[in-house]
Amino acid sequence: MKKYDYVLVGSGLYAGVFAWYARKNGKSCLVVEKRDHIGGNIYCEEIEGIHVHKYGAHIFHTSNRKVWDFVNSLAEFNRYTNSPVANFKGEMYNMPFNMNTFSKMWGISTPEEAKDIIEKQRAEIQGEPKNLEEQAISLVGREVYEKLVKGYTEKQWGRDCRELPAFIIKRLPVRYTYDNNYFNDLYQGIPIGGYNVIMEALFEGCDMETGVDYLEKKEYYDSLGETIVYTGTIDAYYSYCFGKLEYRSLRFESELLEEENHQGVAVVNYTDRETPYTRMIEHKHFEFGTQPKTVVTKEYPVTWQEGMEPYYPVNDEKNQSLYQQYAALAQRETGVIFGGRLGEYKYYDMDKVIESAMKKAEEIFGE
Ligand SMILES: Cc1cc2nc3c(=O)[nH]c(=O)nc-3n(C[C@H](O)[C@H](O)[C@H](O)COP(=O)(O)OP(=O)(O)OC[C@H]3O[C@@H](n4cnc5c(N)ncnc54)[C@H](O)[C@@H]3O)c2cc1C
Repeated sequence: MKKYDYVLVGSGLYAGVFAWYARKNGKSCLVVEKRDHIGGNIYCEEIEGIHVHKYGAHIFHTSNRKVWDFVNSLAEFNRYTNSPVANFKGEMYNMPFNMNTFSKMWGISTPEEAKDIIEKQRAEIQGEPKNLEEQAISLVGREVYEKLVKGYTEKQWGRDCRELPAFIIKRLPVRYTYDNNYFNDLYQGIPIGGYNVIMEALFEGCDMETGVDYLEKKEYYDSLGETIVYTGTIDAYYSYCFGKLEYRSLRFESELLEEENHQGVAVVNYTDRETPYTRMIEHKHFEFGTQPKTVVTKEYPVTWQEGMEPYYPVNDEKNQSLYQQYAALAQRETGVIFGGRLGEYKYYDMDKVIESAMKKAEEIFGE
C-alpha cells in the first residue's frame, strides 16, 4: 500500500477537477506543483485588491450546462461579457467585427450597406487565395483587413501576412448585428473573487507541495502514489526521447498605475504593426473593480525557446506527428494518466479541460 491513492503532477484545472472527484470518492491525493503557487495558468495574483490574471486574460465561457453548473457550485460568477476593443493608431473599433465596427469605419447604419461594402472589397481577390493577406481580404475586404487584422497577425507570427500561408485564417467571424459579445457560447463570466476561489475549492482536502519539479524526484513521488496524474509536458516526461515539441509563448509586462480607470475596458487589441505588443489588459474591469489604482498588462508575442512558459501547443503536422509518438508510449503506461493542455499537447479552453478531466474521473469513479 502506498501513502496516496493519487499523486497529481501540476495544480491546474485538469488536476484540480480530477482531485475533486477523487476526494469525493474518499481517495487520498498529493499535489506536486513546480511553481510556487497552485492554479496553473488561471492563477490570479492580488495587487491593490485587484485580481491580476498572472498568465494572461482568462474569460470563462461554455455552452456545456454540466460544466457551467459545476463551476458555479465552486464559485459565484459575475455577468462579465467579453467585448474587446481594437485600437488602430488611436481609432477605436468594436470587436468582433460587427455593425458597430462597420458603422464607425464607414459611417453607415444598416446591415445591407455593410454587406455591400464588404462584398465589393472582397471581389478584389479572384481565385484561390495565395497567402494569408489574400485569404483575409477574400473574407472581410481590404479595409477591415488593413486596420484590424494585418498588424495584429504580423506581430503574432513575426512575419508579413504575404509570407504567411492562407490556411492559418480559415474564418474571420463577421456579424451583421450590433452585438459586441465576443463569444457565441451560452454562458460566460468571471468567478467573483478571482479564479483562485475555484482552485482552492477543487483541491480542498489534498496535501500540497509547491516549488517542486516532479521529474527531478520522479522515483520518490512514484513511490508515494498508486496512480500518477501527470499534467506537465508529455515530451519532458519521456526525457524528449523522440525530440522536443514546440510551443508558442508570450511575455507579460505589468504595471500598477496611480489612476482609477486607464482604458475603460478589460481588453484592448493593438492592431497596428508599430505598437510592439498585441494586447493590453486592465484586470479590474473583469470584476467591475472600483479600486483607486489599476493594474495593466501588455502582452508581447515571443518565439518560444527552452526555459520559457509553454503556453500554446503548435498545431502543425510536424508537432502533431511527434506528439503521436509520445501518445503511443503514454497509452502503454499503467498507473499513469496524462491529461490537460500539456499532457495531451492540445489547445484546450478552460471548459474543455474541465470536460476532459470530468470524463476521465467518471470513467474511474462513476458519475
Ligand atoms: C495566455 C492564455 C490565455 C487563455 N485564455 C483563456 C480564456 O480566456 N478562456 C479559456 O477558457 N481558456 C483560456 N486559456 C486556456 C486555459 O489556460 C487552459 O484551458 C487551462 O489553464 C489548462 O489547464 P491545465 O490543467 O491543462 O494546465 P495548466 O494550467 O498549464 O497546469 C499545468 C500545471 O502543471 C505544472 N507542471 C508542469 N510540469 C510540472 C512538473 N514537472 N512538476 C510539477 N508541476 C509541473 C505547471 O507549473 C502548471 O501549473 C488561456 C491560455 C493561455 C495560455
